[in-house]
Parts: sequence; C-alpha cells; structure tokens
Amino acid sequence: MTAQQNERTKTRLVRDDTVEVIAGRDSGKRGRVLDIDRKKGRILVEHAMVVKKHVRPNPQRQVKGGIAESEAFFDISNVMIVCPQCGPVRIGMLVGEDGSKTRICRKCEQPLEKKKRTAK
Ligand SMILES: [Zn+2]
Repeated sequence: MTAQQNERTKTRLVRDDTVEVIAGRDSGKRGRVLDIDRKKGRILVEHAMVVKKHVRPNPQRQVKGGIAESEAFFDISNVMIVCPQCGPVRIGMLVGEDGSKTRICRKCEQPLEKKKRTAK
C-alpha cells in the first residue's frame, strides 16, 4: 500500500484502539494506539516496535546513562484493529439513515466503538 495516494493516509483507526501488528518484527503483538501520524501514514502502538536508545549520562538534566526503551512509529498498514470476538479484522462502515457513520467489524458486523469513552 502506498501512503502517498492522497495528502493524508486513509485510515479508520483512532487513538486508543486496540490493534494487532500483522507484519514485521513485532507481528502478533497487540497494543493500544498511542498516536497516529496521518500525514506520514505512521502509527505509534504501545509495546510494539520498541527500540532501545543508548542514552549518554547528562548530570545537568538528571539523565542517567544507559539503555532506554521507547516505542517507534511504523507503517499504519502493518496493523489491524482487533475485534473482541474475531481478532484482527478489517474495519467496515455502517452508515445510518441520518448519515451517521459507525465503524464495524467486517466479520461479525458488530460496532467497534467502545460504548463508554473514559473522560480524561
Ligand atoms: Zn468481529
């Protein structure tokens, strides 16, 4: 899939979705979407694509030297949303009579939205 079809990558994923990595080094791992870079078509997923950074100690900034781990952005096409019943699935769209759109699982056709959004 090319990311540059439009100026923005078409994705129906949103932050806090649970996704499974379907390609690459972390294939099979599941995590929460932490961030999406729609311009670049890249995604940040909790516990996926963890990279080690070698950090040099910096006493002025209270930074200890050593190896720090953090997630890295990778291509959106490498993840699929996880349906609670079916596992990783493609996202379908259900358009209501009033034009409202609901994201649904393509397999079981159940809505993928969480019923309650926890307010922060
Ligand atoms: Zn399903």
